[in-house]
Amino acid sequence: MFLKKDSILSVPGGKMAVPKRRKSKSKVRTKRAHQAIGTPNLVPCSNCRSFILPHKVCPVCGFYKGKLELAPKIKESKSEE
Ligand SMILES: [Zn+2]
Repeated sequence: MFLKKDSILSVPGGKMAVPKRRKSKSKVRTKRAHQAIGTPNLVPCSNCRSFILPHKVCPVCGFYKGKLELAPKIKESKSEE
């Protein structure tokens, strides 16, 4: 097996590098302050105009690129049994 000279596996003893100090609460929280999930990009469906995720079949009408690709789910009433 070919190993680069700077590979972690070529360290004497064959052990991985380990952080010298644990990160302070402040450092961890400062990093995590920027990890929030943003709002999804929504586009209007070409058929029914409801907002959908781009490049996905519309979950309301089942259309994609102007064609019916997936039959929309119709809620069945339980009294029909
Ligand atoms: Zn639609």
